[in-house]
Amino acid sequence: MIPPVLPTYARAPLTFVRGEGAWLVEADGRRFLDLGAGIAVNALGHAHPALVAALTEQAGRLWHVSNLYRIAEQEQLAEKLVAATFADTVFFTNSGTEAAELAIKMVRKHWSAKGDPGRTEIVAFEGSFHGRSTGAIAAAGAEKLVKGFGPLMPGFVHLPWGDHGALKAAVSDRTAAVLIEPIQGEGGIRALPDACLKGLRALCDETGALLVLDEVQCGMGRTGRLFAHDWAGVRPDIVMVAKGIGGGFPLGAVLATEAAASGMTVGTHGSTYGGNPLACAVGLKVMELVADEDFLAEVRRKAGLMRQRLEGLVAAHPGVFEAVRGQGLMLGLKCARPNADVVAAGHAEGVLTVPGGDNVIRLLPPLTLTEAEIAEGIVRLDRAAARLEAA
Ligand SMILES: *Cc1c(COP(=O)(O)O)cnc(C)c1O
Repeated sequence: MIPPVLPTYARAPLTFVRGEGAWLVEADGRRFLDLGAGIAVNALGHAHPALVAALTEQAGRLWHVSNLYRIAEQEQLAEKLVAATFADTVFFTNSGTEAAELAIKMVRKHWSAKGDPGRTEIVAFEGSFHGRSTGAIAAAGAEKLVKGFGPLMPGFVHLPWGDHGALKAAVSDRTAAVLIEPIQGEGGIRALPDACLKGLRALCDETGALLVLDEVQCGMGRTGRLFAHDWAGVRPDIVMVAKGIGGGFPLGAVLATEAAASGMTVGTHGSTYGGNPLACAVGLKVMELVADEDFLAEVRRKAGLMRQRLEGLVAAHPGVFEAVRGQGLMLGLKCARPNADVVAAGHAEGVLTVPGGDNVIRLLPPLTLTEAEIAEGIVRLDRAAARLEAA
């Protein structure tokens, strides 16, 4: 019999009832160190006092009014994002997949408004993930996402990751856009080298194609810079944001240059909830804390420590782990055993990680993780590895 909750997830038998920073408390009282942060969502950990205050203050005043009216919190958050990034303008969504939908629409509208409506092809990459809407699964193209959901939205071509020849051959002055995650998340923490992102920018400049970055997972301070593309110093045309920007409250955004967004005039897009006062009050506080240069420097310092400790863990357990990869606090451990077993062993030792593609476990901890918590995380992962070796 089908359960009341549609069974599209293979859920772990854990029910968390409370969160405090990097810790989650299970219904039975066990404490888990959360190195997954709700899949890179709880950027400031659980129940951060400043976020709780921002949310409750707004909740007592005004939740929702509709985009039929001006929304002060939305305007302030947009101004903050524009001031801190390449973007000239922002549209708020409730999720990453909605950000992907708008990014695709914006690309198509851009070319149609320029009098070139046939310029629709978007070049995307194998192993990518852009969400679960019909457009987003077509954009990613993976068999496991699209099987049984056809016919798919046309207009996407998929290239192997890291194949420069295929890229050069595929991108022409008929290409509408190139869509890529600077660091693939679901695909298993596969980072695009800075030189490749720069090369991609140059290729887009040569051909006129728009460069669209999906920073839903790698953005908002995750890599130790506000956005992952900041490391390469490139200026994208459109960037998708979600996950960390709401710190746990559903919020996403599409950031764009004025030129890229030029087709998006009144009536061309909308959202009932997107950018409502409650979400934006939280997003404003997240931005205030995460975009701070001292905060980001701390993320980089702790990421360096964590990476060093993880290298030691891999060296100590070659039968369980093969390598560390990723950037900042978006780290992956390539596993020598099925990653699901490693995640489960972590559960037994009170540490939460997230499985990813390419047999990786992902470590996406709250950016507020302390040095002591990093040490505790390594102890628990070490015990989990020992547990697998003993089995
Ligand atoms: C999670 C994710 C999405 C989809 O976001 P949802 O909020 O789940 O719709 C899109 N792109 C990337 C890179 C993601 O990690």
